Amino acid sequence: MSSFSVPPPKCLQKPLAVPHRYMFGPGPSNVPSRILMAGINPVIGHMHPEIFEIMNDIKSGIQYMFQTQNNMTLAVSGTGHTAMECAIFNTVEPGDSVLSAVNGIWGERAADMAERIGARVNTIVAPPGGFFTNAEIEQALSKYRPVVLFLAHGESSTGVFKMQPSLLYNSYVMIHAYRYGCLLLVDSVASIGGTPLFMDQQGIDILYTGSQKVLNAPPGTAPISFSERACQKVFNRRTKPVSFFLDLSWLANYWGCDGKPSRVYHHTGPVTAFYSLRESLAVLAEEGLEKSCERHEKVAEYFHAGLESMGLKLFVKEKKARLPTVTTIVAPHGYDWKEITTYIMKTHNLEISGGLGPSVGLVLRVGLMGCNSTKDNVDMVLEALKDALKHCHKSKV
Ligand code: PMP
Repeated sequence: MSSFSVPPPKCLQKPLAVPHRYMFGPGPSNVPSRILMAGINPVIGHMHPEIFEIMNDIKSGIQYMFQTQNNMTLAVSGTGHTAMECAIFNTVEPGDSVLSAVNGIWGERAADMAERIGARVNTIVAPPGGFFTNAEIEQALSKYRPVVLFLAHGESSTGVFKMQPSLLYNSYVMIHAYRYGCLLLVDSVASIGGTPLFMDQQGIDILYTGSQKVLNAPPGTAPISFSERACQKVFNRRTKPVSFFLDLSWLANYWGCDGKPSRVYHHTGPVTAFYSLRESLAVLAEEGLEKSCERHEKVAEYFHAGLESMGLKLFVKEKKARLPTVTTIVAPHGYDWKEITTYIMKTHNLEISGGLGPSVGLVLRVGLMGCNSTKDNVDMVLEALKDALKHCHKSKV
């Protein structure tokens, strides 16, 4: 047995230890015990009929959350990025024109993914905290004639929320996208479930999210849905998608969306993650989308008022464009934002975060999503912030 020259690691002799923490950053959010406990059910085969039934329930739950009748609705095994790549890799072929509306990191990443598979990518860019007018979108659609337009519904890096029905932004984008024969791809990882979004009514062709934000499930599954128009493009491609793992024809079969009488092994579905995802969708369905959105909106208003009464400034100027799930606060003048987040973690056992991508150094980000969206939690964050501003170093300049 001398060939086993690497000894068992000492660290694995210690028991696993994970602290409890208040997860009030932009994600992941806390997982309530009901959802966590669902994940400890026994592992059975990913091709067993009971698992197919659970997957069917998940599909119905996603259709409810997305407000869609799309048959091509499933959960990708992976995080939000996996769903992003699934959307882009299936709908975009080398040489296709893609337009990404960039007002934070997610538009940048979508552009990067499309570039990697040889698309001709163009962007329109708004400064962090800003968004696009309908005229700007239309102008870019007419100039670049993309096959796919990417928009982030909730830009978690900047705290901007777009396409809300009250601004009618959605229908303009939809009409324009239809006029130019372009598929509308929307990222709702940080927003859906806590903010109103209506996939069918808003003419969204591909919509995806993640499990670990408003749904309060562990990270690792990512709901996604494709419209008929999107399926037309996907299933009439000239070339195979670059990824076998994310190939929609395989996933459609595994999720029972292709009408075929039997499902074929594609990959080993993360069944325990499916249990938790199903439970999280059940929790959302029990509360109801309308109530959940109202709760997130009210809690966000309460939070924003509390921040302003402390003398802090909200990063997104326009009230209606503030994301209720992830709030961006202008990094307090004279402080090192990193010292604030570190202090709050150390002293209050509470995660909030700094900026990401174009918002680094500019903001603090607080996410109150799903079960975390309560006034008590707002009070806890406000107290932690007050305490941090009292104790962290403030420069005189
Ligand atoms: N899009 C948005 C808007 C997000 O907030 C995130 C996660 N921060 C992602 C995509 C990527 O998700 P994940 O980290 O689960 O891959």
